[in-house]
Amino acid sequence: MDCIFCKITKGELPATFVAESEHAVAFNDISPRQPVHVLVVPRVHYTDIAELAVADPEVLADVIQLGVRVAELTSTGSFRLQFNTGIEAGQTVFHAHAHITSTTPRA
Ligand code: 5GP
Ligand code: ZN
Repeated sequence: MDCIFCKITKGELPATFVAESEHAVAFNDISPRQPVHVLVVPRVHYTDIAELAVADPEVLADVIQLGVRVAELTSTGSFRLQFNTGIEAGQTVFHAHAHITSTTPRA
């Protein structure tokens, strides 16, 4: 399967990693839309967060916990945790992932 995020999680494609956990990795978005824009990606491949939530709640919890840790590491205040799910919602990479974005980066 030709999946960019599978290749990044396995270290076969480069990325700027921010943090990792047992089930997920976090790296900077290649095309940031906010001063902080980090992707949190489970190591296992699921098409989207809806599929992951049904199939593997433990991994889902790990993705959210890593997202909160990334927000604490990278931002001083408020943050967004977003899952685009489906083409009409703007999903372009069909390996489940969270976006952590913030307008207040930690210096
Ligand atoms: P989606 O649109 O599916 O919710 O989010 C996919 C995100 O992945 C986009 O924000 C896009 O900029 C980012 N992205 C796509 N390809 C790469 C890549 O090769 N490396 C990194 N770091 N981010 C990528
Ligand atoms: Zn994948």
